[in-house]
Amino acid sequence: MEHVVHHPLPHDVPAEWAARAYVNEAKYLEMYERSIRDPEGFWYEHGSRIDWFTTYTRAKNASFGGPDGGEVSIRWFEDGVTNVAYNCIDRHLDTRGDQVAIIWEGDDPSESKHITYRQLHAEVCRFANVLRNRGVEKGSTVTIYMPMIPEAAYAMLACARLGAIHSVVFGGFSPDSLADRIRDCGSKMVITADEGLRGGRKVPLKANVDAAIAKVGGVDHVVVVRRTGGSVDMEAGRDVYYHEAAEQVTDECPAEHVDAEDPLFILYTSGSTGKPKGVLHTTGGYLVFASMTHQYVFDYHDGDIYWCTADVGWVTGHSYIVYGPLANGATTLMFEGVPNYPTVSRFWEVIDKHKVNIFYTAPTAIRSLMGAGDAPVKKTSRASLRLLGSVGEPINPEAWEWYYEVVGEKRCPIVDTWWQTETGGIMITPLPGATRLKPGSATRPFFGVVPQVVDAEGKVLEGACEGNLVIAESWPGQMRTVFGDHQRFVDTYFSAYKGKYFTGDGCRRDADGYYWITGRVDDVINVSGHRMGTAEVESALVSHPKVSEAAVVGYPHDIKGQGIYAYVTLMQGEEPSESLRKELVAHVRKEIGPIATPDLIQFAPGLPKTRSGKIMRRILRKIAEDEFSALGDTSTLADPAVVDDLIENRQNRA
Ligand code: ATP
Ligand code: MG
Repeated sequence: MEHVVHHPLPHDVPAEWAARAYVNEAKYLEMYERSIRDPEGFWYEHGSRIDWFTTYTRAKNASFGGPDGGEVSIRWFEDGVTNVAYNCIDRHLDTRGDQVAIIWEGDDPSESKHITYRQLHAEVCRFANVLRNRGVEKGSTVTIYMPMIPEAAYAMLACARLGAIHSVVFGGFSPDSLADRIRDCGSKMVITADEGLRGGRKVPLKANVDAAIAKVGGVDHVVVVRRTGGSVDMEAGRDVYYHEAAEQVTDECPAEHVDAEDPLFILYTSGSTGKPKGVLHTTGGYLVFASMTHQYVFDYHDGDIYWCTADVGWVTGHSYIVYGPLANGATTLMFEGVPNYPTVSRFWEVIDKHKVNIFYTAPTAIRSLMGAGDAPVKKTSRASLRLLGSVGEPINPEAWEWYYEVVGEKRCPIVDTWWQTETGGIMITPLPGATRLKPGSATRPFFGVVPQVVDAEGKVLEGACEGNLVIAESWPGQMRTVFGDHQRFVDTYFSAYKGKYFTGDGCRRDADGYYWITGRVDDVINVSGHRMGTAEVESALVSHPKVSEAAVVGYPHDIKGQGIYAYVTLMQGEEPSESLRKELVAHVRKEIGPIATPDLIQFAPGLPKTRSGKIMRRILRKIAEDEFSALGDTSTLADPAVVDDLIENRQNRA
């Protein structure tokens, strides 16, 4: 079951890509082989890419519990002492104090800022002093609920400087979701802004914080950064404007000495599959892994301008807007806005404005911009672009090809990076100078990553195969526990296949050893005894020129066991019709085969997505099963109204 590739792509790595990259194919194979054969030696050596106040004597000390269960304990560089903010700022001051660390691009195209490493140092120290004066110290938990403004990064780094643990909650979450997260980690301090600004609309962040605190209590301090100047309620004794508090403190603050295994942050997963988990990451191993992957995967060289479009509320924003790039002394762009404001050319205009070389975004953005056609892209230059990245979901080959051909003009390698909040950093990915690309495949493992494909019984499959993706050995960026609930950590990740980390994703490995993520294991459909990943049926649908987005789920079917139910969003200007429905069915049969024939197709103006833009198939499954009264936790949905339309027009009515 292989997707038909319409436009064969560069089969060999072009010489220019390999020439500038840190590693070519031979070097990748050599480094990868060493990282697996001698993980202790490999990571002992690469641990020195960050600065340590006390050097570690040992790199790895990790157990996944083994085949008979047993304690799950993951420790890296454990007797080393360091500080993440020191590594992201202070150590660069001598060599690159006047280099731009953060380029900030506002929601409104007329607003932008450049912050040098020296300025970043002063800002972060001030922020840390404001927090310290309000009781934040090593081990405190601090909730950050901010728009995408530089102060969000300052706040994160200020916590890291003090050894406090931040929990960033995406600014699009409701007061209820925020309240749950404040309660779960017991924050006494919340950092927010008066209002956020996205796509020209104001987001009432401070009012949401007030509502959340009214629900949970326990918060002693709220620090409010002024963004729009909108008027907000300030509770005397609890709330303070950041700019007023900052006037009272100096811009010097020593970086706390922090153990490698002290927590750095808690981050709640996006909730596509259920109740969000408080993923806990620690200090040393996380930073080594985030910075190393940032350097090699994006092939970051001094002077490059790097832009990751994620929000700091997601792990991608943590590892690849803030920590990885800054640890590497990079120039990282932070964008407050959205891809379609003021127009659908915005991404490409920002690339031209700031001469962005490396651009990292999500398939959901690529597909929606593809739906608007080529013209908004082609009217911009994009001459500075050298490398493109994708993360968050499987990228359909069709969207990959559009990204490659239209956005990158066949000049830029695409790194399709598979990883998770839990993994801390990129796990399976091409390296631009080393990997022959295949559209739709995340390709091969990063150094130190040991993926395996197992069947339902846990048998390790060899060669070309399809099954469940597990990781057999620990890597430095791995999460250490679920905050406050180690048993949930063990149960969720180490009980399905004893002694192995279970990713929850299904995957196929081809004869070249390339990995193709087929979607979440829970989403696999079984049609007349054939197991099928939803991603491949969706890719076939999206490869039809009139389709912009598709989501496929199974539903109970009398004869086949499970039938295929497809939700399809059409390109702008296309109208649903019976004949188009037939055309789509025929198209999928041609692309994949009769076994993948959709039984029901529902044309949907929009699909239910998490706030990070991922399709929530769990909800689509319920609607397809005609069981929409029990949709479960929908608190992380971006636009709950979409669901009503889907229910109203459902195709399977009992
Ligand atoms: P939750 O765990 O709460 O359900 P989530 O899994 O969506 O939420 P994340 O950690 O943000 O939260 O996402 C990781 C998941 O995203 C992966 O397990 C995988 O399913 C998907 N994913 C990420 N990158 C890729 C990629 N390049 N290719 C395919 N799938 C990807
Ligand atoms: Mg997940």
